[in-house]
Amino acid sequence: MSIKIYNTLSGKKEEFKPIEEGKVRMYVCGPTVYNLIHIGNARPMIVFDTARRYMEYKGYEVNYVSNFTDVDDKIIKKANEEGVNADVISKRYIEECRKDMAGMNVKPATTHPLATQEIDGMIEMIQTLIDNGHAYAAEDGTVYFRTRSFKEYGKLSHKKLEDLQGGMRSLQVSGEEQKEEALDFVLWKPKKEGEPYWESPWCQGRPGWHIECSVMSKKYLGDEIDIHAGGEDLIFPHHENEIAQSESANGRTFAKYWMHNAFLNIDNRKMSKSLGNFFTVRDISEKYDLQVLRFFMLSAHYRSPLNFSDTLMEAAKSGYERIVTSVDNLKYLGKNAARDELNDEEERLLGEAAQYTLKFEAAMEDDFNTADALSAIFELVKFANTNSTPESGRSFIEALKKQITELSDICGLIVDKEAGLLDSDIEALIEERQAARKTKNFARADEIRNELLEKGIVLEDTREGVKWKRA
Ligand code: AMP
Ligand code: ZN
Repeated sequence: MSIKIYNTLSGKKEEFKPIEEGKVRMYVCGPTVYNLIHIGNARPMIVFDTARRYMEYKGYEVNYVSNFTDVDDKIIKKANEEGVNADVISKRYIEECRKDMAGMNVKPATTHPLATQEIDGMIEMIQTLIDNGHAYAAEDGTVYFRTRSFKEYGKLSHKKLEDLQGGMRSLQVSGEEQKEEALDFVLWKPKKEGEPYWESPWCQGRPGWHIECSVMSKKYLGDEIDIHAGGEDLIFPHHENEIAQSESANGRTFAKYWMHNAFLNIDNRKMSKSLGNFFTVRDISEKYDLQVLRFFMLSAHYRSPLNFSDTLMEAAKSGYERIVTSVDNLKYLGKNAARDELNDEEERLLGEAAQYTLKFEAAMEDDFNTADALSAIFELVKFANTNSTPESGRSFIEALKKQITELSDICGLIVDKEAGLLDSDIEALIEERQAARKTKNFARADEIRNELLEKGIVLEDTREGVKWKRA
C-alpha cells in the first residue's frame, strides 16, 4: 500500500511519490508571532505533525520546515503599544509557541527559519524576478509582482485571472499605490516611521509576506519540494502568490502536493484573532492535558471543518483516557504475570491483533484519515481489554501494550506516561545546566534547556532556583 494524498492543486487524491526516493521535503506555513497561538493555529501544527510522523513510520526521511513570521504589521503594532522593539515581541512569542508545541507533542521542525534572518535571500529572489520581467519597482521603492506575467496564476485556487481581474476592477489602484494592475502584489515595501527596516536596492524597507515562504522553502528544501501545507485560508492569495513567485524565479514546479486543513470553528465560524472568538492553547492547558486537545484535533479528518465545543472536548478526554487506562492495566498485568512465554492461544490472538495495525495503516494511507485511525486503536484497546487476564503470559501482555503505544505514538499521543523522562533524569540535566552556566558555557546551558523543552519540560528560573514542570 502506498500513501494517498488529496492534492488541492488537482482537486483529487493522488498516490504519493516523492521526488527523491525515501525522502520527503515538506514545508508548512507557520504562525505570525505577535501573541499566544490559538487552537485554530494548533490544528495545522497537529495534523501535519501527524502526517510527518506517519511518513517517518513508513521509513521516509522527512525534512520538515516550518517558519515563524517575525516581521509583520501586527508585531510592529504590539511592539509600539508596549514601547519595545519588534524583536522583543517576536522572540517572546516564538518561545511561548515552542512551549505550546512541546505540550501538544508536536515535534520541532527540522528547521524553523525566521523571516528576519532570511532577508538577503528575499532580496536576491526579488531581483531575479525584476530581471526576468516578473516584477517591477515603483517610484516610491515598492516592488510588485506582475501577476499577469505568470500564465498559470490561479491554478491552485482554481480561479481564472479574468474573473479575479473583474472582481478587482472595483478596487481601483489607489493614488498612493503605484501598481500597474490591481492584482499585482507586494514583494518589498518602503519602511514607515518607527518600523524595522533593511537596506535593499529599491529602498529601505521590508519584505512582503508571500516572498518569505518562497525563499525559506528554496533555501532549506530546494527549488522543488514534495509537500507544501497550511490552513485552507492560505490557498488564496498566499499560496497562489508563492507559486507565482517561486515558479517564475526558479523555472521549476514549486511543490508537487498541496495539503490544506479545514478550519477549526466555534459556533460554526472560523476561530480567529480578528473575530475575537478564540481560545489560546494556554487557555485549554489550564483545563485539560494538551494530549486531550491533540486527541480532539485528530478525531476529525483534517479536511473536515471541526467545531470546538465542551462536549467534544469531554468526549476527547474520555477517549484518550480509555487508551491510557488500558495501557496502565496492561502494565499492571505485565508486572504481575506468573510466566513469560507465549502459549499457542496467545500466539493466535496476537496474529488476530495484527489486523488492527493494518486497519490503522489503511486509514492513515487514505489521505491521513486520523478519525478512522483512532477507531482502529480503539478496536485494538477493546481487544486487549477482553483478552488480557491475570493468567496471561508477560510476552503476550507486553506485545499488546507495545502495539497500542506504537500506534498512539504515530498520532503523537503519549499513552504510557512513565515511558517519558523520569524526574531524576530531568533533575540531573538541570544540575548540568546550572554547572554550565557557572562556567559561562551558555551554549550548553541553552542546549539543555531546549532538549528538555522538546520533551515537554519547561524550566523557570526563579529567585529560589530553577523550577520545572511538565508542559
Ligand atoms: P496565522 O498566524 O494566522 O498566519 O496562522 C497560522 C496557521 O494557522 C495558518 O496555516 C492558518 O491557515 C492556520 N489557521 C488559522 N486559524 C485557523 C483556524 N481557525 N482553523 C484552522 N487553521 C487555522
Ligand atoms: Zn507561507
